[in-house]
Amino acid sequence: LAYTGIYTNWAREAVLAEVEKQMKPSRFQHVLRVEACAIRLAEKYGASLEACSLAAILHDYAKEHDAQSLKAIVLSQGMDREMIGYGSEIMHGPVGAYYAETLFGITDEAILEAIRQHTIGGETMTLIGKVLFIADYIESGRTFKGVDEARRLAEISLEEAAYFKIEKTIIHLVKKELPIYPGTIYVYNSWIQRKV
Ligand code: GDP
Ligand code: FE
Ligand code: FE
Ligand code: FE
Repeated sequence: LAYTGIYTNWAREAVLAEVEKQMKPSRFQHVLRVEACAIRLAEKYGASLEACSLAAILHDYAKEHDAQSLKAIVLSQGMDREMIGYGSEIMHGPVGAYYAETLFGITDEAILEAIRQHTIGGETMTLIGKVLFIADYIESGRTFKGVDEARRLAEISLEEAAYFKIEKTIIHLVKKELPIYPGTIYVYNSWIQRKV
């Protein structure tokens, strides 16, 4: 998938090379699988392939950045300070979107929002946001219990698959006795209140 240049001046290969430097090989392989899955979902649901490819390649850009570096960007950019207590798991989406904009020159708000929201989802999500949210969850290397059901739902409806991920993530966090970021609960509440 060659880029046309509408979203970034960077060529796809250059973006990949820069992303690869930020993470261990196993995570880079995850990124490539998320991209493949995102492109397939984009074809199925009529989203921009180029936008979904870029969002996918950049989504975990900041995941392995150290806590101090993530925290510095959260503070300097006026992001929600409460994220800091949850570490990289919660900060890497919003900080990744910051790099997408400042390093890669992306201004498309749907791409930036998709990266920002990819871990917890959002009260409202664009098509690109849903594609990335689900591709990250069901990419071919994922093996958690329930992934088959998530993959089945993704073929029927991105909405149903997103609802499934939002619910299962809350259950998973409670079972593991992990602290739940208020944004995660907010997203769960907004989706469940809308569900008919
Ligand atoms: P990854 O970056 O590809 O590993 O996937 P994600 O960005 O989707 O998620 C990163 C991790 O954050 C996963 O292990 C989620 O279970 C976890 N996570 C999501 N929401 C919360 C939360 O509210 N609190 C905590 N502690 N972890 C969360
Ligand atoms: Fe992530
Ligand atoms: Fe993920
Ligand atoms: Fe990921």
